[in-house]
Amino acid sequence: MRYLSTRGSAPALTFDEVLLAGLARDGGLYVPEAWPHFSKDEIAALAGKTYAQVVAAVTFAFVEGAIERPEYERLVNEAYAGFDHAAVAPLKQIDGNTWLLELFHGPTLSFKDYALQLLGRLLDHVLRKRGQRVTIVGATSGDTGSAAIEAVKGRSAIDIFMLHPRGRVSEVQRRQMTSVLSSNVFNIAVEGTFDDCQDLVKAMFNDLAFRDEMKLTAVNSINFARIMAQIAYYFWAAVALGAPHRPVRFAVPTGNFGNVYSGYAAREMGLPISHMQIGSNRNDILTRFFETGAMKIEGVEPSLSPSMDIQVSSNFERLLFDLYDRRGPAVAETMAAFRDKGVYEVGGNAMASARKLFSAYRLSDAQTLAMIGEVRKRTGEIVDPHSAIGVAGPWQHKSASSEPTIVLATAHPAKFPDAVEQAIGIRPPLPALLADLLTREERCAALPNEAAALKAYMRSHASLKGAA
Ligand SMILES: *Cc1c(COP(=O)(O)O)cnc(C)c1O
Repeated sequence: MRYLSTRGSAPALTFDEVLLAGLARDGGLYVPEAWPHFSKDEIAALAGKTYAQVVAAVTFAFVEGAIERPEYERLVNEAYAGFDHAAVAPLKQIDGNTWLLELFHGPTLSFKDYALQLLGRLLDHVLRKRGQRVTIVGATSGDTGSAAIEAVKGRSAIDIFMLHPRGRVSEVQRRQMTSVLSSNVFNIAVEGTFDDCQDLVKAMFNDLAFRDEMKLTAVNSINFARIMAQIAYYFWAAVALGAPHRPVRFAVPTGNFGNVYSGYAAREMGLPISHMQIGSNRNDILTRFFETGAMKIEGVEPSLSPSMDIQVSSNFERLLFDLYDRRGPAVAETMAAFRDKGVYEVGGNAMASARKLFSAYRLSDAQTLAMIGEVRKRTGEIVDPHSAIGVAGPWQHKSASSEPTIVLATAHPAKFPDAVEQAIGIRPPLPALLADLLTREERCAALPNEAAALKAYMRSHASLKGAA
């Protein structure tokens, strides 16, 4: 499989190269040259397989040519072996026609583990085969940092430096990062805000000499390997509810559009998904887009679902590429206008076809709390604020069809105990895997908000020296 940039001027790459590159050199995102296609019989044959078997069957075409099948199956098996539910991604029925797909049984309790646990192993595998190393640097205010650290801890070809704003992440979230004591993991508490942390990371990447010296890379949601791994649970859940013989709908709490785009990809691959509902919080750029046809930047405000507090949904560019019939230069032009003016419009057939598949809605914090309460009252389940926004899809924006809706539950409620307690007066306990989190030893460096200090720290701690 080869991969193309959505902006049409960077070279086509192989899977290994896309995995290592993340972003394309023309600023675009990589997408497969063509979607692999699954016939009805091939989809039906997924029934009864384990989660890991479904992942391998659905995604092998993306890595073919870069990794041998037995090796890939081994990496996939390892990736999901440590999840704390035998089904890995259990489906739970919450009313006559609605199911929750629980994507919070990985080591850090958010859906990001389902992609990053595999990505970390793929990255290590490819690097070791090539005799290379990389240094991951990132900033986090929430779920991504811990999921990335868990995914690469102890891997010999990778060092990871994760910045968080000192005193500004919740105790659970901080400890999920700082209690990982592996020698290739470096947590850094920065004297500053999350924006300061992001600016520091940008400064590291913008210093090209430093970037080359340290072989810097990122593991954010623009990496196609994350999209790829997520496609598998759409197949897994749909087949459990009768696909390919019956179409299904999905409702997805959304930030960067990465998770939703994986569902779109599954549909392009032949899975009968008839509709996707996109849930957002007050940071509702996507909802406004589907209402008006204009993608327009506004400020970001903190919400009770912080992992969806985004200004721009960067993965939307991948959908735009298809809406524009895969014309890279048209996407490049649109993104340039977006950068200059903070707005672009999609009209005509492109917008009409987007609206056929997607609809979008938003919940305020008050509505999110009310939804957590309603789920508890009607079903007995406790959901986190992100998942509650998902449930509002089928419950508040009903469809006339009788097709089942699968809501993606993206985080464990114990990750957001304050919001849950505010909604229903119950503080959800951490699952067994993390029960002793609050007493574990922590390791974390403290640094001032200065690029020079961060560079010096990274140089003296990365194990790159002497490596090929
Ligand atoms: C990251 C995250 C999201 C948003 O996912 P996108 O792929 O950015 O849309 C939603 N919920 C939780 C809990 C997350 O961690």
